[in-house]
Amino acid sequence: MNNENNSEEIIEILRKAPKVALFSHVSPDGDCIGSMLAIGRALEKIGKEVSFYNPDPLPGYLAFLPGYSRIRQELPCPQPKILLFVDCSDLGRVNMTRSEIYGDSIVLNLDHHISNLFFGDFNWVDAQASAVGEVALTLIKRLGVEIDGDMATNLYTAIMTDSGCFEYSNTTAQTHRLTADLLDKGVDLLSIHNNIFNQKPLAQIKLLACALNGLEIHADGRLAIMTLSAEDFQESGAEQELSEGLVNHARSIAGVEVAVLLKEVGPEIKGALRSNLWLNVNEIAARFGGGGHQRAAGCTFGTPMAEAKQCITTAIEEALRIGRDH
Ligand code: 5GP
Ligand code: MN
Repeated sequence: MNNENNSEEIIEILRKAPKVALFSHVSPDGDCIGSMLAIGRALEKIGKEVSFYNPDPLPGYLAFLPGYSRIRQELPCPQPKILLFVDCSDLGRVNMTRSEIYGDSIVLNLDHHISNLFFGDFNWVDAQASAVGEVALTLIKRLGVEIDGDMATNLYTAIMTDSGCFEYSNTTAQTHRLTADLLDKGVDLLSIHNNIFNQKPLAQIKLLACALNGLEIHADGRLAIMTLSAEDFQESGAEQELSEGLVNHARSIAGVEVAVLLKEVGPEIKGALRSNLWLNVNEIAARFGGGGHQRAAGCTFGTPMAEAKQCITTAIEEALRIGRDH
């Protein structure tokens, strides 16, 4: 994939724009929020008027990020001419369609998903980047803005969370080089890691207990599936966003190549897919209308839990079988 795409044009458009609206994806995570806030601050430093949008309630564990309280759940009205989507593979990730965007608006798409649909008028998609935070950092540098402590905190959080603490296969030497630059700006590592990993609400641990309780192992130990029903959320007192990261507990079991967490969200079942070494879960998720990365992806089912579980189990078992045979 051409990872530079329209980067020149995007920099030029942002330089000239008086106002920019920034958008980040549903089920917000450290990468989309941190990157969006860092870019917004950089744009403000060069005199732009900026607004921040996310369709969902924000997770409390990110409340320490500078600028967090400025993110709105209402679409900017009136829309500015320049709209910048951060960490979104398609407009559906923001619960939007093109018809909701003014005809004369310019849509900029800044992302790192292999499943990106190049939905923007201008696209900058680097599927090699561990996090869109890497792309955001490059963008800010190319805008000629000096990275300050607040931007560094946001960008470090973006890169550290999406690379799984520099553990996932998307982590490169460049990831570490960029992160080292951020550390030079005075990032408080202890405080960030403590906020992200050691301040979990008790309800989240109770939700984990529910998920582990229903853990199933398939495909000779290579597939681990967990489910969370609406009752599980109710009984543990956890909001939807607290299921973030739970799938990694299934992924960490010896012998497991693929882990799945299926959760009931209203009438739908939302699936989180992870793989360890080789299986392309983006391809599996794409079969069900979703997407993401090769080792981390998601999709949504409009069926009851039992059916969704059967569908995803069959698809993954088959992929594991084919992979093993080749
Ligand atoms: P998570 O399982 O943490 O929600 O998402 C894992 C990765 O897959 C993230 O990069 C996320 O953006 C992407 N992803 C999750 N759900 C969907 C989906 O329904 N559609 C697409 N295109 N990507 C998704
Ligand atoms: Mn991301």
